[in-house]
Amino acid sequence: MKIEINYDECYGCNACVEACNKNVLIELDDRPVVASPNECKFCLRCEKECSTDALKHERIA
Ligand code: SF4
Ligand code: SF4
Repeated sequence: MKIEINYDECYGCNACVEACNKNVLIELDDRPVVASPNECKFCLRCEKECSTDALKHERIA
């Protein structure tokens, strides 16, 4: 899984980090970072919680 966070759109609410129960996203210096993209189940809970569309997922082969 390729996960991109647009830090121009992200305001560091960390709702996405809390939404992810796979610990794919972690908080670092008040910003979300992608820690383990291979654990992502593509549930898109994190994207739904993001009010700015800063998160984008892309399936990669
Ligand atoms: S899509 Fe689901 S598993 Fe993947 S990072 Fe978002 S909340 Fe976590
Ligand atoms: S939910 Fe969106 S705005 Fe909030 S920390 Fe995550 S990417 Fe940034």
